[in-house]
Amino acid sequence: MSANYDPNNSVVIIGAAPAGMSAAIYLKRSAIDVVMLEHVAPGGQIMRTQGIDNYLGFPAGTTSVDLVMKFQEHLSSFDIEVLSETASKIVPGEILTVETSTGGKFQGKAVVVATGARPKLLGVPGEWNLFGKGVSTCAVCDGNFYKGLMVAVVGGGTTAVEDVIHLSRLVKKVYHIHRRDQLRLAGETSDELANLANVERVFSHTVEEIIGEDQVEAVRVKSRKDDSTRDIKVDGVFISVGIAPNTEFLGDLLSVDDGGFIKTDDKMVTSVEGIFAAGDVRTTDLRQVCTAVADGAVAGLAAAKHLTGIALA
Ligand SMILES: Cc1cc2nc3c(=O)[nH]c(=O)nc-3n(C[C@H](O)[C@H](O)[C@H](O)COP(=O)(O)OP(=O)(O)OC[C@H]3O[C@@H](n4cnc5c(N)ncnc54)[C@H](O)[C@@H]3O)c2cc1C
Repeated sequence: MSANYDPNNSVVIIGAAPAGMSAAIYLKRSAIDVVMLEHVAPGGQIMRTQGIDNYLGFPAGTTSVDLVMKFQEHLSSFDIEVLSETASKIVPGEILTVETSTGGKFQGKAVVVATGARPKLLGVPGEWNLFGKGVSTCAVCDGNFYKGLMVAVVGGGTTAVEDVIHLSRLVKKVYHIHRRDQLRLAGETSDELANLANVERVFSHTVEEIIGEDQVEAVRVKSRKDDSTRDIKVDGVFISVGIAPNTEFLGDLLSVDDGGFIKTDDKMVTSVEGIFAAGDVRTTDLRQVCTAVADGAVAGLAAAKHLTGIALA
């Protein structure tokens, strides 16, 4: 980005992680300037874990640091600079303005919101210090590390149930911990769950603590019926109590779903002209690096077409 960039030929991207970085590359390849804002450090959720699996081209997985360094190299090869700024508001218009917490104002003819999401946690002792050492919020990502071992899944929503089913195919045993006495599930999923021989239900229980020195050793649960506690020996605890999108700064500017995720069409177009959303921040069925990168590419091209006046097919 040059100091005298032309807002008419620029797109502001909020979030420098897989979705935002991918959008930036597709925009630069279309000869459009990019202003990229990031409030923590490039990489996003990737940096919350040590290794990344399921990304094509890395059969043995890759360390998070290596992957983010590769992403940054790719950005540098297009002279894309990441500005350390926290977006606090988007002012829509023919030229859109992104305001930041330092009082900055960044303008472009389009904005790509790629601010991602954050997994919700339980807030119990042991959870933070054992995160990445047996505590995970992503069964699809980390399940493979627990082949033949004992794990617990905490949560009673659809994602938690999917995690239980997914892990039951890999691990020796899954303890399914849920604070209510039953799941609100119907149909096939419910039947599939009931037929899993290596799943033990620990319903009407809450997690009190995750126990371990350098690695998870057990999870302490408390009965909601009689307040009794017990420790269940496990190697891993998968917390699946939902994720929250990083959309607070948008107020009610964009249409969102019940979970607060931004609604888009398949071109990543949001409810406000000139604003696109990509990656974990939008309503989608799968939240992975590959889907974020794909969303970013689609959003980048759609934003480029918006700038050049080419209609989106
Ligand atoms: C523990 C864990 C393990 C995972 N393991 C895997 C795995 O093995 N394989 C896999 O494919 N996926 C994995 N994932 C999922 C993957 O990391 C995400 O799907 C992916 O990072 C989403 O990318 P994103 O660009 O949409 O958003 P994010 O990665 O969430 O990044 C959003 C970025 O926006 C920034 N931002 C937010 N708000 C603002 C603001 N107001 N102003 C400026 N910047 C802002 C954030 O700081 C962040 O850098 C894992 C996730 C977690 C949490």
